[in-house]
Formats: sequence, C-alpha cells, structure tokens
Amino acid sequence: MRKHIVAGNWKMNNGLIQTETLIAELKKQEKTSDAEVMIAPTFTNLWHAFQSTKQSSIEVVAQNMHFAKNGAYTGEISAGMLKSIGIQTVILGHSERRAYFNETDESLAQKVDTAIENDMRVIFCFGEELSDRKAGNEEAVVENQIKNALFHLGADAFKNIVLAYEPVWAIGTGETATPEQAQDMHAFIRKTLAGKYGNDVGDSVSILYGGSVKPNNAKEIFSKPDVDGGLIGGASLKAEDFFAIVNAF
Ligand code: PEP
Repeated sequence: MRKHIVAGNWKMNNGLIQTETLIAELKKQEKTSDAEVMIAPTFTNLWHAFQSTKQSSIEVVAQNMHFAKNGAYTGEISAGMLKSIGIQTVILGHSERRAYFNETDESLAQKVDTAIENDMRVIFCFGEELSDRKAGNEEAVVENQIKNALFHLGADAFKNIVLAYEPVWAIGTGETATPEQAQDMHAFIRKTLAGKYGNDVGDSVSILYGGSVKPNNAKEIFSKPDVDGGLIGGASLKAEDFFAIVNAF
C-alpha cells in the first residue's frame, strides 16, 4: 500500500521562538490517521526542530538544497550538511524556487541525483501555470517536468521519491484544484510513471496534492484514489489546522 503523507512547507516563516512554539503545539495534537507527518522549517531552524521532534512522529525535512557536494557556492546548503544534522528528506522543485530562483528541470535533475546518491528521500514538486491549464496544456507541461527531471533515474530510485503535484495557480491563492482535477492529474502522472517504469513503480509512488489545501477541503481531496496526501503551505503554520488536514485521511 502507498504511504499517506502530509508535509507542511513553512517557507520563509517562523524564527526560532515561533518554531519552538509551533512545534510544541504540533506535539500536543492527536494523530488519528495513518499519514506520515513532515514539517519543513527554514534552514536556520532545522537542527533545533530536529532535536525537538525526536521523540515524536513528526519528521523534519528541508525545503531545498544544492546539488554540489561542497565548494564555492555562497549561501547554499549541501546534502551532506543536511544529513549531518539528521535530515533525511528534502523538498525539491517547489514552484517558488522555479519562479524566483531560476531552478530549471535540468538543475533539478542534478539536485535529485545528489539526493539519491546521498540516500535521501525527495519530495519532488511540479505543476502547471494557469496559462497552461487555460490552453489545455496541463498534462503536457507536467509530463515534461517529470520526464526532464526524473526519467534518467533507474526504477530503484523511485523508492526514495515522493511526487507533489502543485498547480501554480492554486498555491497560496485560496483557489484549489477540484478533487476531480487533482484525481485526473494524479492518475495521469501514475500512468506516465507506469509507461516508463512499469506498474510496480506507477502503483507504489506516493503522489501528494498541493495548492490551498485547508481543513475544510482536505477530506474531499484525500478521498480520491490517486491522491496520497498533501503538501501544505499556509495551513501548516497553525497546529490545529495542520492536524485537521493530517487527520482528514
Ligand atoms: C505550497 O507552497 O506548497 C502550498 C501548497 O501552499 P498553500 O497550501 O499555501 O497553497
């Protein structure tokens, strides 16, 4: 059975004190679903968050990393650095990284390789712009993003890959894809994976939906057969809202 996962992307929010407070509130919440729970604080708080969640079922993950092992890359963080503080999972390819930091399918392919070489789990994000959807090109865009960044990998690597379909027009906008739109795209993604790697891979990779998931719409979205969880932005900053989403399974 595929893993259910709910991951909170805190983005550039929360200093140390707010991180401590939010983690304390998260630890008080009761988990009633089988979903794996992850939070992605900013780099400066990863170590502290990792220590504070050690005795809990919350996994702390990184929002990004560089593809190089080390060297002259001012301001960047490597896989080895993340692993040295216990971080095992990294989000790659978020649309904000693509839009504001010029991340491309090609540079993301390098980052994915580095993560896999370091035995890290990747939450790989992709999704179409509103103009793509209006033009009816959403499947072609998504297919290209996946092919360009991931299809050089061997089937085995997909044990460490979680996909996150995040239509750009739904991120932080309050506009969510309908459960049917999410299901249609997730089924298409699964078919694309199966076409390249066979049904074993197609059926085993968890595919998360991201884009304005809130406590009031999570249940309906998560009820769709090919939706295995969510990548949550805004609603992950409030412990009750985040756990309402976690418990929507
Ligand atoms: C995100 O940034 O990955 C995201 C899904 O944000 P939000 O839930 O705020 O739309």
